[in-house]
Amino acid sequence: MGRAKYVPSAKEQAFLDTVENPKYDRRIINGLAMFFEHREPDDMKGFYSDAELAALAVLKDTDRDVESRMPVKVTRHYFEMAKNSKPLQRLVKASPDETTDLAGAEDPGHQMDFSPVEGLLHKYEMGLMYVISTCSAHCRFCYREELIARKEVERADGSVAPKGLAQVKEVTDYIRAHNATVAEHGGRHPESGREKLREILLSGGDAMALPNSKIAGWLAALAEAGIESIRLGTKEMAFHPARFDDAFLTMLDNFHATYPEVGFRLMVHFNHPDEFLAKDEDGSYIEDQHGTLQWNPVTRRAMDGVVGRGWVSVENQAPIIKGINDDPDALRIMQRALKRVGVENHYFFCGRDIVAYKAFNVPIERAWQILNESQKGLSGVETHARLSITHYKGKTEVAAVTSDPIPGVAGTENGVLIFKILRNAADAADRGKVCIVGRNPDAIWFDDYEDRVIYDEAGLFDYARVDKKRVEIDEEALEAAVG
Ligand code: SF4
Repeated sequence: MGRAKYVPSAKEQAFLDTVENPKYDRRIINGLAMFFEHREPDDMKGFYSDAELAALAVLKDTDRDVESRMPVKVTRHYFEMAKNSKPLQRLVKASPDETTDLAGAEDPGHQMDFSPVEGLLHKYEMGLMYVISTCSAHCRFCYREELIARKEVERADGSVAPKGLAQVKEVTDYIRAHNATVAEHGGRHPESGREKLREILLSGGDAMALPNSKIAGWLAALAEAGIESIRLGTKEMAFHPARFDDAFLTMLDNFHATYPEVGFRLMVHFNHPDEFLAKDEDGSYIEDQHGTLQWNPVTRRAMDGVVGRGWVSVENQAPIIKGINDDPDALRIMQRALKRVGVENHYFFCGRDIVAYKAFNVPIERAWQILNESQKGLSGVETHARLSITHYKGKTEVAAVTSDPIPGVAGTENGVLIFKILRNAADAADRGKVCIVGRNPDAIWFDDYEDRVIYDEAGLFDYARVDKKRVEIDEEALEAAVG
């Protein structure tokens, strides 16, 4: 028996009938084969050196094959910018270093523990949906590599399968049922303690790689199901900004006219100012007569189109990644340039514990120092971004790193790092609680602080799921040692 089909209401259908679906020619290069076989366009020759290609070719079809870890993909627009930018090259070019150490979580953040229906994660008052499993180009450090590379992932019930995509009917049925139960019980779900599911993030992959009709279908169905605010997570503003064209903007306008009560937030993803600022032939940013840095005109038009709606909020969030944006000057330029055109700086992230995270992650304390350094000299409104690291319990801020000992407190000889929980599953019982650990400049994940916890009201190091996993890992290590 096939899946029951979602049937749009007359109001939804009237909106959907207005949507135009242009084709977008991103001139994507998919995979390394074209480079291995020297079939890339002439002006792309040299994007990978012969030595780089030789080093990648020997890994093909081995355990260290970079393409099975994360498919390789780049758009023409991104290539044009990356030609003159080492950080952008590092973002899209595969490198043998990626698979030197394949340690990492197959399901970072144990997301599948919070998946009530396929393709939907419901951890906070916000839900996240996988609506597509690809993007116009692929970031090598992608924290959804398990979805994009279609890897098998263990679910809470022990079954194993690739993560599936959300389906409109299943998701909207779930939202309606959850919210009805919450309403019947005075505003909280009787079992999970969660509030109304009022916000949804369309994620993937990149929802902007879907046609307008699909995006519109999701927007309308979620609005009809009672969602108050919809976010769309995208790196398309960097990969192919021409995607934000009149047809897309008109679709947004028509959605807003049909469902004016529903908020819309575009969560953009810029890692580096080279992704949107214009450069001269010497590779320097172009300034106007007042010293203001100029945007790439295509990106600026796209950004103005979205910000100019007035009712759309646009927020940037990005991880700090080794060799890409672990650079206070680049981050300072980026935060200032984004805020100037109406984009909020929301979060910077410490890299997650994805497979091969050691190739990309900057030590946590270093990431804090980079962001802190980058915000010196910026105005208050330009420095809204916080450094966040995603613990299984929820979004956690790396709030402070100190350098001096605290008199009389053992373990603080080199200073401390303070984590603070920003968001927490269910009813956010632990929001605002902190955890203080002794410094470890090499730490790239929570585990690296396990032996130096000083104070942990947040419970970041006291977690049953982590303990269970650790026992399994220890048992595996023991078996490997004796086997
Ligand atoms: S845009 Fe986001 S989802 Fe897509 S490859 Fe980059 S990090 Fe992954």
